[in-house]
Amino acid sequence: MARYIDSVCKLCRRERQKLFLKGQKCYTEKCPIESRNYPPGEHGQRRRSKVSEYGIQLREKQKIKRIYGLLESQFRNYFKKANRQKGITGENLVKLLESRFDNIVYRLGLAASRKQARQLIRHRHFMINERLVDIPSYSLTAGDIIKVRDKSKKLDAIHNSLKRVKDTAYSWLTIDKANLTGTYVQIPEREDVPLNANEQLVVELYSK
Ligand code: SF4
Repeated sequence: MARYIDSVCKLCRRERQKLFLKGQKCYTEKCPIESRNYPPGEHGQRRRSKVSEYGIQLREKQKIKRIYGLLESQFRNYFKKANRQKGITGENLVKLLESRFDNIVYRLGLAASRKQARQLIRHRHFMINERLVDIPSYSLTAGDIIKVRDKSKKLDAIHNSLKRVKDTAYSWLTIDKANLTGTYVQIPEREDVPLNANEQLVVELYSK
């Protein structure tokens, strides 16, 4: 499968905002956005000419896709699924993305980034409802319980990440840090999701 192997910080700089792709570094002053908040490359600092409507929609799509660490085809499949569901397509899209296993492991604080969450999941460190699941894209439903496997409970990566989040960080999740267990209580409402992006522009882009 295709894989992005260049610096992920360049992706944030391209979008001119923190996408929190790197884990702990994102919360420190070493984050390049703090000192170089302009697109990478030789002409990154040049004044930008007027961006077209298409350009704005495209950037918003790229931003959301990068935040959740998806490839174009995966992202488009989520959009198609969101479009088939009842309700507002953009909100459906965000809810589908938020229900991904790797995203929930990250939000629970069991991984420092979604990328690390994917790696930990593939290395079989988590269970859902007492069953081993090693598929990062697995879609959770309300009430699912995520647990760190007994053999993985001493992993530094998990304990270091847990320091980042408060127990009550997200209203739709609960975390029991002592037992390394989290619950996906309910599908979040769009306004509760801390996603600094306009998903409606993605809908407009794909609806052309
Ligand atoms: Fe983005 Fe994190 Fe790199 Fe900052 S440190 S540019 S937030 S990935």
